[in-house]
Amino acid sequence: MSKLTLKKIYKVYEGGVRAVSDFNLEIKDKEFVVFVGPSGCGKSTTLRMIAGLEEITAGELYIDDTIVNDIEPKDRNIAMVFQNYALYPHMSVFQNMAFGLKLRKLPMEEVEKRVNNAAEILGIKDLLTRKPKALSGGQRQRVALGRAIVREPNVFLLDEPLSNLDAKLRVQMRTEITKLHKTLGTTFIYVTHDQTEAMTMGDRIVVMKDGLIQQVDTPATLYEEPVNVFVATFLGSPQMNIFKVNLEKDDTLFVTINGKKNHFSINQTKQLMDDKYVNSEVLFGIRPENISIANEGIEVYVDQVEHLGSETIVYAKIEGIEERITAKIPTNHNIKNGDTVFLSFNMNHAHLFDAKTSYSIIGAPKLNLIPCEVKENKIVKLNKEEIELPNEIKNRLFDFTSQEAKFMTIDTMKICNYELPDALSLDVKIDFISEGSDYDSVYATSKIKDGYIVYKVKHNSLTNKEKDKIYIPYSAMGFINEKGDKVISREEVSSNETTCFVKNENGKTTITFDGNKLVYEDMSVVEGEYKLKLISNKVGFTYTKKYAKKNKVESESLPNSLRVSAYDEDSLGSKNAVYVKAKGFDNYLTLVLENEFSVYKMPEFSIVIPKEAIELNK
Ligand code: ADP
Repeated sequence: MSKLTLKKIYKVYEGGVRAVSDFNLEIKDKEFVVFVGPSGCGKSTTLRMIAGLEEITAGELYIDDTIVNDIEPKDRNIAMVFQNYALYPHMSVFQNMAFGLKLRKLPMEEVEKRVNNAAEILGIKDLLTRKPKALSGGQRQRVALGRAIVREPNVFLLDEPLSNLDAKLRVQMRTEITKLHKTLGTTFIYVTHDQTEAMTMGDRIVVMKDGLIQQVDTPATLYEEPVNVFVATFLGSPQMNIFKVNLEKDDTLFVTINGKKNHFSINQTKQLMDDKYVNSEVLFGIRPENISIANEGIEVYVDQVEHLGSETIVYAKIEGIEERITAKIPTNHNIKNGDTVFLSFNMNHAHLFDAKTSYSIIGAPKLNLIPCEVKENKIVKLNKEEIELPNEIKNRLFDFTSQEAKFMTIDTMKICNYELPDALSLDVKIDFISEGSDYDSVYATSKIKDGYIVYKVKHNSLTNKEKDKIYIPYSAMGFINEKGDKVISREEVSSNETTCFVKNENGKTTITFDGNKLVYEDMSVVEGEYKLKLISNKVGFTYTKKYAKKNKVESESLPNSLRVSAYDEDSLGSKNAVYVKAKGFDNYLTLVLENEFSVYKMPEFSIVIPKEAIELNK
């Protein structure tokens, strides 16, 4: 039994493929977590890093409270089950299951006990003497599971274990693995590209795309409150209908489709994140199961009907809309190709997304955005309230970006209504509660914002539905600029300071420190000892020869450059905060470079220091 923590995990393969980026996740003891996403999104890579089969490029992996980055796979007490179960063909089922234990020199008595016990759990006791070739696909998969069970691991990793099985067996094994998880009471991490497997098996699902986590939630919350169009359309079959529409508002928000107005409720209307979306183009989402056939409504022309037994899938054209609409309806309707019918939407389950970013703009936001003003990296002004920032935040704000900070972001899931240490406490007045299967979203007002603060509580757990006191942990706060780029890094921002000597010779100014020499046109400063500070966003970089050759870019040798080695990096939207070690600076240097630059691609490189990047103080 173990808890797993993945902190800022990155994987960059040789050649520069960034398979996993900034992966942060805590997996609770005994939890069943599923990683799901299209092929190539980084699921297996993440799993293999957990197993220790793949080196972690950056970040930390903890099992319980121990960092295991450098611990051998065999010492992690993790068992992995693969898609191709790789049984030894010449060995019996018993021998296959016992093999690993014998290698570990466990007493024969213990080996027999464990194999028999696992065989019992998996219902394969009568197969122990058979060879793999005399087994069906499902039985082989059970043996592969058995081989993992006998090791009595703290964590089970399963990489698409069912994808070689036929559809019927897959459904059966799905239930068996879920049961197995309950029986063993062990942490399970399961990788699949199949959304049905993910939805039916996981306590929580991690949806990934392009190496990035899109959303982590329970199946019900993912389904009801997808954060973006990708998650909305990846989960659910047939997938959610998405149309470009103009969002309008009278008493409530509405969208007009083929002349028919479809109204959102008053509470949904209150949940719209920004009034700028009214009278502009947005994406409207509705799942096929939330569409029904009606006597009046949106007129559509049916061009395909699929009968699936208990339900029927209807595909239809709507005048003036390019995309076909899909509806899932009970089979008792007698609808045929070529029919013209009316559809009505269950608007309580409709979604709206930003047409550009594709992020959800209605319903509980992932982040609360609170307009703010940061003063001298110390105080943040939220509405009329001034709040002194704790050191933990102060030290992570960039001097020059703190003035750019336009919004404080607060992770909706991290706000609590019970006391927390290191948190801002706030009295709120509840306006309304939007109920979900697992969590209810509370929409409340407070003195720090004109609009709502949204937070989540366990479904039906609120007793006082008018007032509440919430706690916002400092660690849940972030800052973004007007464009939505992060302006706070996760590492402390170093001062970039060192002691230097300044000399003026032949109309030039020479700055030396720890064997480094920088030469500029006369800077008109008095000679002597100074404190040199490098301005983090004024420093440039040059490519290494190797990198330049591989990526076909110019590598130039420029004056006033300094060799550095990479320490870490952190994405700040269009910029990358880069932490490097350089001769002459005690701490690491913090630089802000264009985000196509990654230290993971160039562990060693040179920075270029123009005159503007230098500040000299006595
Ligand atoms: P998934 O399991 O989601 O299908 P993977 O983790 O296997 O995705 O792969 C993520 C990305 O990393 C893909 O772009 C893949 O091509 C790349 N990749 C995987 N393994 C290697 C490797 N050994 N060397 C280079 N690139 C790799």
